[in-house]
Amino acid sequence: VTIGQALDRAAVTWADQTALIARAQDIRWTWHELRDHADAFAAGLLALGLRRGDRIGIWSLNRAEWTLTQFAAARAGLILVTINPAYRLSELEFALNKVGCVALVTATAFKNSDYIGMVNALAPELAASIPGQLSSARLPQLRAVIQIGGPPASGAIPFDDVAARGGEAERAELRELASLLQFDDAVNIQFTSGTTGSPKGVTLTHHNILNNGYFVGRAMQLTAADRICIPVPLYHCFGMVMGNLAAVTHGCAMVYPGEGFDPLATLEAVQAEGCTALYGVPTMFIAELDHPEFARFDFSTLRTGIMAGAPCPIEVMRRVVEQMNMREVTIAYGMTETSPVSFQSAVDDPTERRVSTVGRIHPHLEVKIVDTEGRIVQRGQSGELCTRGYSVMLGYWGEAEKTAEVIDAARWMHTGDLAILDDEGYCNIVGRIKDMVIRGGENLYPREIEEFLFRHPKIQQVQVFGVPDPRYGEELCAWIRVREGETMTEDEVRAFCQGQIAHQKIPRYVQFVDEFPMTVTGKVQKFIMRQIVEEQFG
Ligand code: ATP
Ligand code: MG
Repeated sequence: VTIGQALDRAAVTWADQTALIARAQDIRWTWHELRDHADAFAAGLLALGLRRGDRIGIWSLNRAEWTLTQFAAARAGLILVTINPAYRLSELEFALNKVGCVALVTATAFKNSDYIGMVNALAPELAASIPGQLSSARLPQLRAVIQIGGPPASGAIPFDDVAARGGEAERAELRELASLLQFDDAVNIQFTSGTTGSPKGVTLTHHNILNNGYFVGRAMQLTAADRICIPVPLYHCFGMVMGNLAAVTHGCAMVYPGEGFDPLATLEAVQAEGCTALYGVPTMFIAELDHPEFARFDFSTLRTGIMAGAPCPIEVMRRVVEQMNMREVTIAYGMTETSPVSFQSAVDDPTERRVSTVGRIHPHLEVKIVDTEGRIVQRGQSGELCTRGYSVMLGYWGEAEKTAEVIDAARWMHTGDLAILDDEGYCNIVGRIKDMVIRGGENLYPREIEEFLFRHPKIQQVQVFGVPDPRYGEELCAWIRVREGETMTEDEVRAFCQGQIAHQKIPRYVQFVDEFPMTVTGKVQKFIMRQIVEEQFG
């Protein structure tokens, strides 16, 4: 099945039920309306000269047009390249050229950005070239910029004008494409978060991501009565697959609280729209739980949801269950390269299990945990997590060598994450191989130390990482953000650890910070923290 076929089915099965609510834009569409808008936009894209297999970029925060573009591109046989809205001009240029985008959909509504300047810097040459024959030195392949909202940059086509360009010929072409497109055609290029370095362009098929969206929804027992609140970015698989594609395969409504993440807008959306599921990375849930107005919200409609993307502190999971009424909340583990989810808790797992592990392997996937020599370890032992099955990406776009480093000849994806499987198949993510700290020959797992420190009542957020040390090779450093109105000293941190955790796990350096370097997906970038501390040490 292709994404286009899934959308058709939704438009028939759940025709008049709500598909999408974009609160900041005051938009509400049914599945029928969403399909019709997507078809019209897809016909317009064909009229612009886009052809099966062409890459079309989208560089926008969460909006209804984002989702429209996602479905329209899939129906027109295009490959949607989802671009981080935080990218600046040079990064955007790099991404577009790397995968050879012929068109770019973009919005003016960026917060604090010189967006118009950026598009104008790209578009002057477009002005003379539309339609079709651009000869820009900087973007040799780009032929069209489609702009959401005004005022228009020079040469850009207003988003709302695209649909009108499609005529009967394009409609006929779309109908023909519907039977030509294959489930294993590439439909997406997504970039990884850039948590451990620069992002990689992951190529995914209809089969990869549509199935994953379906199984993610099934783990939460979603039905057409559910409404998913999606404050996570659409440009990342958390929003576009676990959100949008779970919705299209189960008939749920997608609720977008706003363009970028805002804890208050998210809480308001849950209450006002009667959401039954809520998504977020741990830092988002922390921001919601700790919001000064948290107490005034009613969570009675909320039932389930997903916390994922980064280690989920047990304490935060408990609060989400108790204070937000998310009694069937799940944790998911995944990575962009595997569409993304491979482990997820089930709603009927015991609460203790549900909050402390990432659950069991998804249906139709295989898992193994291997040591550094590639041998399968015993249950209960840690090693590198490898997964295999429908969800494994086609590869990194245009980088066969990098692909071969992570997908072996037997098609196993080597995740780079350390994990333990227990006797019943529940999985614990111990940390990233790259984050593991080797101090004096001993392997230390920052995650474990973070969980411990997080129990201190004054600590709001904590990150532990390794810094180079001439004597031990590496030493532990903790960055701590204390709760509002509290103060804390290094000695207090050490005293808290003393006698409670092994002495080599007590961080040698403790620093108090207001902020952590983050990806737009809300993940903390330890490699940048490491760089900052290394610079301090000279
Ligand atoms: P990059 O590969 O560019 O460094 P990234 O790996 O963070 O960035 P993503 O594909 O967005 O990019 O994230 C996948 C990673 O997120 C996983 O490999 C894992 O390390 C981490 N992760 C995801 N879910 C969980 C979870 N539930 N618990 C712990 N870690 C998780
Ligand atoms: Mg990664």
